[in-house]
Amino acid sequence: MGEKCKILHQWFNSMKKLTFPFNDEDIPLNGIYVLFEKGESAHGTNRIVRIGTHTGYNQLVSRLKQHFIKENKDRSIFRKNIGRCLLNKENDPFLKQWELDLTSRKAKEKYAALIDFDKQNEIEKGVSEYIQNNFSFVVFQVDDKEKRLGLESKIISTVSLCEECFPSKNWLGLSSPKQKIRESGLWLVNELYKTPLSDGDMQELKILLGIKEGS
Ligand SMILES: [Zn+2]
Repeated sequence: MGEKCKILHQWFNSMKKLTFPFNDEDIPLNGIYVLFEKGESAHGTNRIVRIGTHTGYNQLVSRLKQHFIKENKDRSIFRKNIGRCLLNKENDPFLKQWELDLTSRKAKEKYAALIDFDKQNEIEKGVSEYIQNNFSFVVFQVDDKEKRLGLESKIISTVSLCEECFPSKNWLGLSSPKQKIRESGLWLVNELYKTPLSDGDMQELKILLGIKEGS
């Protein structure tokens, strides 16, 4: 899987990288995003640390904003995972409260008295700051939802199965309480080590990315 993963790294690294604050116009309505993180390299280039997409129609920009801007860990598993690491690294007991999902009204009522919301806001700010300062990304358009989810899964599998990609000693994800994140070197727990991209999938992806022949 190393060869395909290397090609994916070359392709994605050759595309226009976006950083925070990004322009909505640079992002297709529907598609897949690939994240890179400062200090992380693989295959002689920036290491892919997360691949993601969205399920709702025309929601790619809003999904990226849920990760980069909206301070609500319960709407972004990526934010939740960054927060887990920031807290775990400091042995901060607030980690227990950070785990609680406050999305439903019922949960909010049940847990409100237990949660230090000032502390929660402080951690949310720390998560935003870390994400905005450390991640860059590329995006590409995939309109069909099934196609998008299928490709996302296969790209994740291809990268996770590669034995030449690994995190740096200082990677924040190594402080994760989630074994899958520490072991995969990716900010992901789903779709790891499943079906990778076939040769045909690679050809199709190359066209989707607009990669020229011979590169
Ligand atoms: Zn690799």
